[in-house]
Amino acid sequence: MKWIDLRSDTVTRPTKPMLEAMMQAEVGDDVYGEDPTVNLLEKTTARMTGMEAGLFCTSGTQSNLLALMSHCNRGDEYIVGQLAHTYRYEGGGAAVLGSIQPQPLDLEPDGSLDLAKVAHFIKPDDYHFAKTKLLCLENTQGGKVLPMDYLAKARAFVNTHGLSLHLDGARVFNAAVKLDVAVEEITRHFDTVSCCLSKGLGAPVGSVLCGPEKIIQKARRWRKVLGGGMRQAGILAAAGLYALENHVARLEKDHVNARHLAAGLAKIKGIKIDSEMVQTNIVFADITADMSKLHGHLKENRILIDPSSHLRLVTHLDIQAPDIDHAIGAFQSFFRG
Ligand SMILES: *Cc1c(COP(=O)(O)O)cnc(C)c1O
Repeated sequence: MKWIDLRSDTVTRPTKPMLEAMMQAEVGDDVYGEDPTVNLLEKTTARMTGMEAGLFCTSGTQSNLLALMSHCNRGDEYIVGQLAHTYRYEGGGAAVLGSIQPQPLDLEPDGSLDLAKVAHFIKPDDYHFAKTKLLCLENTQGGKVLPMDYLAKARAFVNTHGLSLHLDGARVFNAAVKLDVAVEEITRHFDTVSCCLSKGLGAPVGSVLCGPEKIIQKARRWRKVLGGGMRQAGILAAAGLYALENHVARLEKDHVNARHLAAGLAKIKGIKIDSEMVQTNIVFADITADMSKLHGHLKENRILIDPSSHLRLVTHLDIQAPDIDHAIGAFQSFFRG
């Protein structure tokens, strides 16, 4: 019997045809720029996001860090959400390795940053202050899709203030599928975007940073410095290419499964869900019960959740509709007590 792993969309295993594509990959030494599969992945992702160039990175953390280090110099500042991944969940890399000061601000309930508040925190040109260079947004943010008109406003805002705009688009394909637009419609507002291949898209490894040629050249240099220069990485890039070709449209299934899961759990006394917030593949819920007991009960039913204080369930490629029914049943039996 299979495990139903709802901890994250990073837990997916490569499918048979994906492994087949990896086996067939033509490879070369990518540090010499000679891996045709890596080159194709970079070109393909750049084309999809409407950018000049792409860079295959080991992880989303690396890709975001390279973007920050390529937009900002030592003593510069970037403005970012308090709960944004680049600020909170990347070990403080911008400060630790880039000498870049973060200016975190509280996120709005829809996952955006209030631009009037951002304006207030842009530092004047005065040597008491770090130089504000970059605004960083995240889409999806906690599974929520940033509104399209907000993206246009954010672009106009950074133009007015002479900032650059980076998107942590770890799940930007989920956002595009949810809005039923080409991903380029979202990414065209940004200078750079980091896209994860190893989340909902189901590849085992990697992210691609896309942006203008000049920024990507800088990022390529920093990637080598950070130990991210990989050799016959085409084996991994082939999985990413396969994912981009075959696993984008199917994200809709993950969204349907997440909505189904949220609807089922919302009916259980003891679970509180704001279904407005279930827009893509992530379900957040508040529960009255003891988390570690719930964790144990679900484990007995071959269901894995992250036993942290807040319940966060993520659907993905390895979760099918019957798994959702099974999971709802296990939650029901726990809360029935
Ligand atoms: C997962 C994630 C990343 C990058 O994560 P890695 O584990 O380093 O690949 C970046 N931003 C967001 C929003 C993420 O969810």
